[in-house]
Amino acid sequence: MSVPGSPRLERFARLRHRMADLGVDVLLLSLGADLPWLTGYEAMPLERLTMAVVPADDEATLVVPLLEASRVEEDPAAFSLRAWSEHEDPFAIVSSLVGARSRLAISDRAWAAVVLRLQSALPGATWKASSVVTSELRARKDAAEIEALAAASHAADVVAGQLLRGEIPLVGRTEHEVSADISRRLIDAGHQRVNFAIVGSGPNGASPHHEPGARRIEAGESVVCDFGGTLHGYCSDITRTVWTGTPSSIEAEVYEVVRVAQQSAVEAAALGVSCEEVDRAARSVIADAGFGEYFIHRTGHGIGIEEHEDPYIIEGNTNLLEAGHAFSVEPGVYLPGRFGVRIEDIVVADGGGPRALNQADHSLVVVGS
Ligand code: ZN
Ligand code: ZN
Ligand code: ZN
Repeated sequence: MSVPGSPRLERFARLRHRMADLGVDVLLLSLGADLPWLTGYEAMPLERLTMAVVPADDEATLVVPLLEASRVEEDPAAFSLRAWSEHEDPFAIVSSLVGARSRLAISDRAWAAVVLRLQSALPGATWKASSVVTSELRARKDAAEIEALAAASHAADVVAGQLLRGEIPLVGRTEHEVSADISRRLIDAGHQRVNFAIVGSGPNGASPHHEPGARRIEAGESVVCDFGGTLHGYCSDITRTVWTGTPSSIEAEVYEVVRVAQQSAVEAAALGVSCEEVDRAARSVIADAGFGEYFIHRTGHGIGIEEHEDPYIIEGNTNLLEAGHAFSVEPGVYLPGRFGVRIEDIVVADGGGPRALNQADHSLVVVGS
């Protein structure tokens, strides 16, 4: 049961307000994160159509295949349920719910096949991507969402702590084996799903999204571990770089530069500061140390139901941080053919100052020598 003022009804109210501002008559939500954000229900990627029809001026309806209907947690104050059976045409149902309304927005992740069917059923309509409506709403997390992100970050911290204490064997194992080990630990720590577990050892660490492979980790090299999962619908994402033996002086120097860059960007992330200024806070430290050309990606990305969403912490994004913005701060330096270093935490912009959700240590750690 929902009561007026419940987080879900508040989301519907904010959404309809924004639809009115943007001149969107109906929002059509299918695959992707907008649907669970709004209704609590996530559509399975099936050929059978699932679609929430949300008119700005009328009640919302969740159209689902009959066999999926039992998975919907009904919330009659927020939306009604229309289960369609195998002999019905769900596109006709959606079209009749849209009616004469013509300015439509549809999930960014809706299948092209679905969009094309609807476009022929609704020939007079104009179309936008739903993210135009939803992304800045979703970027500002409410208290329950921040709590969920904190719980996910804490679970990732548990595994990061095991890594930093040398409890995850590295030397002599393949990257793939370590990645599988980290994945099991993410589940043990409370995640329902593992989203990725990147392990880049030695020269492989210089590729930020390295696919863990058959390379055996040796003593005396750096290992970049970047991993995250989903816990109660919200994502974690953390990176720590450790050494399997005493680092060389250049390795220790790069680590210290990245550590200071990461800390500077977290400290810069106050309310009212632009996303690009946060990026610059990290980038200037790395550039001043002479490694600017080796920091080859943005400083961070928003995080929530999706691992990557608004706001993006990158030069050119002049949007200002607002209370509830949640994002990664993850500068790195990658020396091709040699090694890489990245340190990543999730941070929430808050009236009391930037709040790092990850607490795992940032010091250079030598493990399992
Ligand atoms: Zn990434
Ligand atoms: Zn990451
Ligand atoms: Zn990240």
